[in-house]
Amino acid sequence: MALIKSWIESANAPETPFPLNNLPYGVFSVGEGDLRCGVAIGDRIVDVTGLEAAGILRADPDADVLDAPFWNDFMELGPEAWARFRAALTQMLAEGAPERVQDEITTFSVPMAEATLHMPFQVAEYTDFYAGKNHAFNVGTMFRGPENALPPNWLSIPIGYNGRASSVVVSGTPVRRPWGQLKAPDAELPVFAPSRRFDFELELGAIVGQASQGPVTVDEAEEMIFGYVLLNDWSARDIQAWEYQPLGPFQGKATATTISPWIVTRAALEPFRVPTPPRERPLLPYLEEHRPGLYDIDLEVRLAPEGKPATTISRTNYREMYYSSAQQLAHHTTSGCPMRVGDLLGSGTISGATKPERGSLLELSWGGKEPLTLDSGETRTFLEDGDTLTLFGAARGEGFTIGFGACSGTLLPALEDPYAR
Ligand code: CA
Repeated sequence: MALIKSWIESANAPETPFPLNNLPYGVFSVGEGDLRCGVAIGDRIVDVTGLEAAGILRADPDADVLDAPFWNDFMELGPEAWARFRAALTQMLAEGAPERVQDEITTFSVPMAEATLHMPFQVAEYTDFYAGKNHAFNVGTMFRGPENALPPNWLSIPIGYNGRASSVVVSGTPVRRPWGQLKAPDAELPVFAPSRRFDFELELGAIVGQASQGPVTVDEAEEMIFGYVLLNDWSARDIQAWEYQPLGPFQGKATATTISPWIVTRAALEPFRVPTPPRERPLLPYLEEHRPGLYDIDLEVRLAPEGKPATTISRTNYREMYYSSAQQLAHHTTSGCPMRVGDLLGSGTISGATKPERGSLLELSWGGKEPLTLDSGETRTFLEDGDTLTLFGAARGEGFTIGFGACSGTLLPALEDPYAR
């Protein structure tokens, strides 16, 4: 697929993350102004809240859906309205659009450099999965040895746990090193202390744009997905290790989950579909997929110590996953669990087969045993105070790139003692 040219010149540059082929949805403000829904195009943001209020571009003829600082009401309209809106916006921004339209868009747009980006949607509920086979194998090998690395259910079930929507924050939000119960392997009793093994996890987040009641098929689940964001599932490995049996992650995963600010729609990613890898055990029929369920998205992780340049510590691709978001969503509903508009599903850590493709420090440093050397000469096993961790994602077409915008967070030192008050 080729670049769709825009009359906004910056959207035609091969390196821009936001060509006309992308049109990702976000929420922005300028100065002390209010929060508005916006669409990224080149180096500008189109104020679609303003376009709707002026009657120039309406997603719903009868109701305002972009008059609140989140995209949930728009998502609720459903796939046909999503497609109509995208088509109308594409036409208005395409090369050759009438002068009058270009003037209107220019009036209702701002330079991205002047804007602050906010959470693009209200997270209804948050579920995190464990669908990367290399990640599950690496972590399992560290804890149980290579023979028993994958749990017996792993090749049959997209494993997940229910996380906390309240912990999801937008890129740029600082993250505070948590305190928690820790127990060294040779210690008899736990202590309450700041986490010493604070980590990141490279993931993609799928956003559910349609509600469901009762079980849905993989094909139906696919149609319910509105778009994707990059997602960093910050993880306190020492808290996690002591608490996780028998009910899974809890406080080790509850400090924060950072997402990138732009929702890249399923429509924008359509040309980049790739199949899930061959099944190593046949799936139950309800999990079978009838179209390629993954996307070819290059992913990169950079770590910058405070005041130092960043080092790329991992490069991998979303196609490494074993289960797709549609399979995860379908499985999520098997029990009758209702899904809501704004539900966020973390893919699980994305790791490739080789060491430089691993999506967490737990794997990159092999449980802290093999420190990484950064470009600054410093070494890392887990994150240090002041470190900034940034995820990048890009699907690459011919002469254009579908980018996600950065998913970034800086680790602040733990509080002195959270209970000293
Ligand atoms: Ca995770």
